[in-house]
Amino acid sequence: MDPGLRVDLERVVGAVHVLTEPEMLSSYAQDWTGRFVGDPVAVVRPGTVEELASVIRLCAAARVPIVPQGGNTGLVGGTKAPSGSILLNTRRLDTIGEVDRLSAQITVGAGATLESVQQVAREASFDVPVDVGARGSATIGGMVATNAGGTRVIRFGMMRAHVHGLEAVLPDGTILSRLGGLIKDNTGYDWPRLLAGSEGTLAIISAVTIGLVPTLSERTVVAIGCDSIAESVRVAMRFRDTNQHLWAAEFVTRAGCELVADQLAMLVPPVFDRPITLLLEFDGFEAALLSVAKSVDSGDLCEADVTVAGPGSPTQADVLWAVRERHTEAINRLGVPVKLDVSLPVNNLGSFADSLPFVAPGAVMFGHLGDGNVHVNLPGLGVEGREIEAAKAEGDILVLVASLGGSISAEHGIGRAKAEWLHLSRSSAEIDLFRRMKQSFDPLGLLNPGCLIPT
Ligand SMILES: Cc1cc2nc3c(=O)[nH]c(=O)nc-3n(C[C@H](O)[C@H](O)[C@H](O)COP(=O)(O)OP(=O)(O)OC[C@H]3O[C@@H](n4cnc5c(N)ncnc54)[C@H](O)[C@@H]3O)c2cc1C
Repeated sequence: MDPGLRVDLERVVGAVHVLTEPEMLSSYAQDWTGRFVGDPVAVVRPGTVEELASVIRLCAAARVPIVPQGGNTGLVGGTKAPSGSILLNTRRLDTIGEVDRLSAQITVGAGATLESVQQVAREASFDVPVDVGARGSATIGGMVATNAGGTRVIRFGMMRAHVHGLEAVLPDGTILSRLGGLIKDNTGYDWPRLLAGSEGTLAIISAVTIGLVPTLSERTVVAIGCDSIAESVRVAMRFRDTNQHLWAAEFVTRAGCELVADQLAMLVPPVFDRPITLLLEFDGFEAALLSVAKSVDSGDLCEADVTVAGPGSPTQADVLWAVRERHTEAINRLGVPVKLDVSLPVNNLGSFADSLPFVAPGAVMFGHLGDGNVHVNLPGLGVEGREIEAAKAEGDILVLVASLGGSISAEHGIGRAKAEWLHLSRSSAEIDLFRRMKQSFDPLGLLNPGCLIPT
C-alpha cells in the first residue's frame, strides 16, 4: 500500500485498526466456505461514521477500490477483495440503541451482529423479524446489504421490509442520514431501501433503524415426514393457509440428514428417515396442535409421520432445528462446496427436485420451502482445479432454474459468484439500468468493483 495513504488511514482510525500483515489479513480475505479468497492490501476498521467517511474520502482521493465487509458470512464472494483494494470492515460500528417500545424499533450500528441485536430485543419482549443460521457473525449492515431472508420470510418477509431508517456513506465520503423511523414518508426516492440488496456497490451502510416484532410466545416445532418435495409443498401450503401463526416452513432431504449424522456424529431423530422432512415452526401451541389434528383427521397426514415439540420440550425443538441448521457445516466437511441459492415458483419445486439429479448428480438440497427457496450444494466442487466442472454444473443448474421461472438468487445475492449469470434473471435493459444507477452513485467505480454487475 502507498505509504502516504497508510499514514493517513492510521491517523484516522488508529494504527491498530489498519491491518497489513499477511497473517492478519488472511481471516478477512477468505470467505466462510473457503471458496473465495481475496487479495486486499489492507483491512481498515473504522469505529465511527465520521472515521468511515474519512477513510472513504482518503481512498477516493488515492483511487483505491474499497470492499465493504461485515461478518464475512456471505456465500457469493461479495467480500472477495480484488488485488490492491482495501477491505473496509464495519464490525467496530456495533452500537445498539435501546428498544423503542412505542414504535417497536431499534437503531443499531451496521457492525452489530444479528445475535447481539436479538438479545437486546428479546430482553424487551421483541424480536428481529429476520433470522439466519449465521446469526453469531452476520452483521445488520451485511444483512441489509444482501437483503437477507432466512427462516421466517414466510411470516415476515425479507430484511428490506424491516428497514425503517438508514445511515450510509457515499463513495465520495458524503454521509446520508435518515434514521427517523417514520413508517409513512412519501418524500421522494426511497434510497434506504434501494441500498437493501445493493451488496456494497452503491454506498456503505453505517447504521440501521429496524422494525421489530413481538417475540415468539409459545414456540412449537412440528416435523413431518413426506415422500416427495411436491407432497411437502402441498402440506406446507395447507398449514400456511389455515394457520396464521406459522413462522417457518423448511425442508431437508434424507441424503442431507444422513450427511449430518455421519459427518457431525449427531443423533438424528427417526422422523428425518423419510425422503423429505418438512420442519414447521408456529407461534402458539394450541393452534399448532389443532392444525395438525385437523390434517390427520382429514387424512392429509398420517399421525406416525408427525413429531411435535411444544413449548414444554425446548430441547427437542432445538434438536429438530439443529438437523436443519447444521446441514451447511456437514456439507463443508466434505470439502469446499459450490453453493447455489435459488428460488422457484412453489408449483415448480417438484419438477426442479426431479430434474436436479440429472444435471448435478450428488447435489444436496435443503431450504426454505415456504418461499420456494432451495439451497443447492455441490460438496467438494469448490476446490482449486475443479473450476471448469464447477462452472458447468453452476451453469446447468441456473439455466434449469430460469427455465422453470425461478430466480438465480433467492436471498444470498449475486456477489462475484453469479455476476456472469445475472442475465438469466434480469433483462439487458435492467442490467443497463443497474449500470447507470451504479455510475450515478459511484462514478469512479471504486466501491466493490466486480460485485453484482457483470464486467
Ligand atoms: C451458516 C450460514 C447460514 C446462512 N443462512 C442464511 C439464510 O438463511 N438466509 C440468508 O439470506 N443468508 C444466509 N447466510 C448468508 C449470510 O449470512 C448473509 O448473506 C448475511 O446477510 C451476510 O452478512 P455479513 O455481515 O456476514 O456480510 P458480509 O459477508 O461481510 O458481506 C456480504 C455483502 O454485503 C456487503 N456489505 C457488508 N456490510 C456492508 C455495509 N455495512 N454496507 C454496505 N455493504 C455491506 C459486502 O460488500 C458483501 O457484498 C448464511 C450464511 C452462513 C455461513
